[in-house]
Amino acid sequence: MSTFVYMTRCDGCGHCVDICPSDIMHIDENIRRAKNIEPNFCWECYSCVKACPNHAIDVRGYADFAPMGHSVRVRREEEKGTISWKIKFRNGTEKNFVSPITTKPWENLVRSSNMKDYGSFTRDFSTQMLFGANEVELGKQWANNDLITNLNETYEPFGTLRRGEHITILIKQTNKKIPGEFLGRLVLGVEDDAIKVFGATIY
Ligand code: SF4
Ligand code: SF4
Repeated sequence: MSTFVYMTRCDGCGHCVDICPSDIMHIDENIRRAKNIEPNFCWECYSCVKACPNHAIDVRGYADFAPMGHSVRVRREEEKGTISWKIKFRNGTEKNFVSPITTKPWENLVRSSNMKDYGSFTRDFSTQMLFGANEVELGKQWANNDLITNLNETYEPFGTLRRGEHITILIKQTNKKIPGEFLGRLVLGVEDDAIKVFGATIY
């Protein structure tokens, strides 16, 4: 089973091409629309479906968890910071899942660190992190550290690790003034039914 593209919705932006781990989403040179050139090599990872801003990609049957006659819809909504899945089984039963886009807290940390905005910087902190945070100390770091005040707002998550109740996201981060790449580490967990930051560092 594999992805297919609704030609009338596709505008040829290429996001699906960039994200596909199997390198099978290509832009057709003649019609300037995306297509899956090798359906048998599709991992059914749904990365392209989530990345497509026009909701132009769908996946044919995924028999493992939703047998024939079903539908699976997944939507990434940047403004809401969520990815939502709707699975409809052939007997009409529906299951809906909503999960947060886990890089959103990093996006906020980068932006507010550049702006030296303590309130915004600690917005997603867990109680434990808030307890250890110190506005004066952080102010001193912002005053003396070019790395944490000139972060590029484009960054690249490249891996996740799970330990107990927490997930660590590893991020390749660059800086506007300092050349090279830096390692960002974001630890997320759940507190009071919300995703919270339990650790954030940059090396
Ligand atoms: S589902 Fe994954 S492997 Fe298949 S085309 Fe999309 S990004 Fe590529
Ligand atoms: S991401 Fe969507 S709109 Fe962009 S090329 Fe792929 S299918 Fe077309």
